[in-house]
Amino acid sequence: MDEEEYQKMIKRCVRCSVCKWIPQVQIKSQKYASGCPAIDIYNYHPYSGGGKIILALAYEMGRIKPSEELRDIVYKCTVCGNCAVACKYMSTLEPIEIMMKLREKLVDTGCGPMPQQKTYIEAVKKVNNPYNEPHEKRMDWIPDDIHLDPKAKVLYYVGCTSSYRRKEMAIAAARIMNEAGISFNVLQEDEFCCGSPILRTGDSNTFEEILNKNLDIIESKGIETVVFSCAGCYDTFKVDYPLSRKYDFKVKHTVELFDELIESGQLKLTNNVPITVTYHDPCHLGRNAERYEDWDGDVVPLMPLISINIPPKPKRTGSKGIYDAPRNILKKIPGLKFVEMERIQEYAYCCGAGAGVKSAFPEMAIKTAKIRIEEAEDSGADILVSACPFCSTNLQDGIMDKNSKLKYFDISELILMALGLEPEKLKQATAEVA
Ligand code: SF4
Ligand code: SF4
Repeated sequence: MDEEEYQKMIKRCVRCSVCKWIPQVQIKSQKYASGCPAIDIYNYHPYSGGGKIILALAYEMGRIKPSEELRDIVYKCTVCGNCAVACKYMSTLEPIEIMMKLREKLVDTGCGPMPQQKTYIEAVKKVNNPYNEPHEKRMDWIPDDIHLDPKAKVLYYVGCTSSYRRKEMAIAAARIMNEAGISFNVLQEDEFCCGSPILRTGDSNTFEEILNKNLDIIESKGIETVVFSCAGCYDTFKVDYPLSRKYDFKVKHTVELFDELIESGQLKLTNNVPITVTYHDPCHLGRNAERYEDWDGDVVPLMPLISINIPPKPKRTGSKGIYDAPRNILKKIPGLKFVEMERIQEYAYCCGAGAGVKSAFPEMAIKTAKIRIEEAEDSGADILVSACPFCSTNLQDGIMDKNSKLKYFDISELILMALGLEPEKLKQATAEVA
């Protein structure tokens, strides 16, 4: 969003507070009516999407100055996107874009980002990952049985979290592609952080350097399709990179690829997996993974706070996220019973980890995860699955902290069980829920 559009948009919030909830027509119970983790945890208007827009306006009017208090409110937000979806029922505002611009302004003054986020940004600059792990250990996750093809046109972009923290996801994704006969390669020592954790803090200059480095490498290799098992990497490549630089290759999340492979018969799910499962939609695979459509029009003021877009601006409602593919997969696993939580798809509740919250505000991350875990428990499921290594880490932390009986698996691990490739894990999963 350019500065002119920002200056106009921050004057258009009508203070309705719709962004604190999931849209009214989607509410199924009072318990699961809210949609904003920042409001659920801190319960004070400035933490909401609309509240942050008022802060942005007050900042521009000189009524508030950069301060630790302002920074605290602006960064206690997972950039989950619920407010952006809910607000579309009221207006054509983009609360997330306003928040990101406000973060950029705080970074420019030296007030932002949070100290813990500065630490991981330095780590990315030094060793190419936010965990400050040695770059040369990035590919240590690859077991001997994985077959890579140096001439492949399909690239598996593993991402930092699966490479260093959630190796089971990378291994499962690679084994499934091998089983389906997909010829793929990884970037080895040329794979670096996608830049998502940096972008979400508002450090757009560092992000630009990273995206250019990554696109230069991938384009130099003649890659046709890049596959991601991390929702954060996927969203960053799919939605954020093209805003700065267009590219020609296709991007796919593993759930999209695996759904296609099951549908075409290249993957045969034959093994019984007798468990009850619910699925958590990652924000960056769901509502946030909807691309922006180009729009060249005017914002015409009608009366104070009310404007119209001429011609009408395409609304980014979150409905074009990836919702069917993971559900198709789960419904095709023999013996598996699939149940839904109350807040799903573009109205799903965040896991609590994103946009630097896990590092800077671990208490917010864990409280949010526990709200989502309770919702999963209420669905009647024994197993919670998702499709993002960052959700995986935080939801598993939430399960432990809550002492929940729920077990967590990545969806790719369930596919391996259904392919008969993980008999021990299947035995363990079914024994635990028996
Ligand atoms: S951001 Fe949108 S939904 Fe929230 S208070 Fe403002 S107009 Fe209402
Ligand atoms: S992005 Fe999510 S956490 Fe942040 S204000 Fe909007 S709904 Fe709340």
